[in-house]
Amino acid sequence: MTILTNIKEKLQELKLNFTENASLKKYNTWKLSGNAEFLVHIHSIKELSSLYTYILANDVPYFIIGKGSNILVPDEGIKGIVIRLGKEFESININENFVKAGAAASFIVLCLNVAKQGLSGLEFGAGIPGSVGGAVTMNAGAHKSDVSKVLKEIKVLDETGQVRTLSNKELNFSYRKSVIQEEKWIVLEATFELTTANKEEIVKITNDNKEYRLKTQPLKEASCGSVFKNPLPEYSGNLIEKLGLKGHRIGNAQISEKHGNFIVNLGDASSNDVISLIKLAQEKVQEQYGVQLNPEVQFLTTTGKKG
Ligand SMILES: Cc1cc2nc3c(=O)[nH]c(=O)nc-3n(C[C@H](O)[C@H](O)[C@H](O)COP(=O)(O)OP(=O)(O)OC[C@H]3O[C@@H](n4cnc5c(N)ncnc54)[C@H](O)[C@@H]3O)c2cc1C
Repeated sequence: MTILTNIKEKLQELKLNFTENASLKKYNTWKLSGNAEFLVHIHSIKELSSLYTYILANDVPYFIIGKGSNILVPDEGIKGIVIRLGKEFESININENFVKAGAAASFIVLCLNVAKQGLSGLEFGAGIPGSVGGAVTMNAGAHKSDVSKVLKEIKVLDETGQVRTLSNKELNFSYRKSVIQEEKWIVLEATFELTTANKEEIVKITNDNKEYRLKTQPLKEASCGSVFKNPLPEYSGNLIEKLGLKGHRIGNAQISEKHGNFIVNLGDASSNDVISLIKLAQEKVQEQYGVQLNPEVQFLTTTGKKG
């Protein structure tokens, strides 16, 4: 009996909601079309815990996706299990200046909701697509702020299958990085500590931030947002633009004409088209400016691990 037959039997035995050979195209904002051998939709912590215990005990390749707005899916697809948290993880509860949000809640919806309640701290995030779990994992940020500035604590399912609370400090945040990217933790919920302020002002800042994005980013095209981290004080987009690479196309992937740090999918781009553009930008920037561009986007490998 092959390992994959075993996985399928186990998923059936656990009565999980799964699809075999599922296209991930609608689960990543770049619209890259690799398949997941098994895509499992999780509806409760109990389901997640039993699945995760099985995965870890048997060393089954796996990957957890949020809204797929910062991942590069390989055309060859992903072996093993891709986990996606369902609607049951989308709750948002506001209690005075503390906000608890489920890991699958939309980060944009969260930021807009708290702004309307006169709570300040998440104005930066109103244009950042993705889930709360993804935002915490990536320490998502913009407009000189990020998740680490307002996060109090998170609940995770840890490597022993237990639910655990971790404080902001334990997540070791830095620029677009948290320790979650290396640990075997699945974020279940996040609590943010915000401050009360003038509602009209908060809503105005939030809307201004959104408008700035519309002007500067190719939001009508499929992308993963910024491909590279900024090698501060330099900005990756500026370095790429200065080299005249905006608009450069390989296959159906193109360095955006609007923003040098975005690669857009013009149609059915392959992951190889995208990777070729990433390498080209890295080589040219290194050659011309002696600066190394490090990807912000998380690469998935065929074994489900990050590459
Ligand atoms: C148009 C556009 C604009 C963007 N602008 C910004 C921006 O201004 N600032 C910014 O920081 N980012 C930006 N991004 C990138 C992206 O939106 C963020 O990184 C976002 O927080 C990722 O969330 P996600 O749910 O889509 O995560 P995914 O892309 O699904 O996953 C990203 C990583 O998080 C992990 N992960 C996701 N959920 C969980 C979980 N529950 N538990 C454990 N790990 C998890 C995944 O395994 C993966 O490693 C932009 C993207 C797009 C498409």
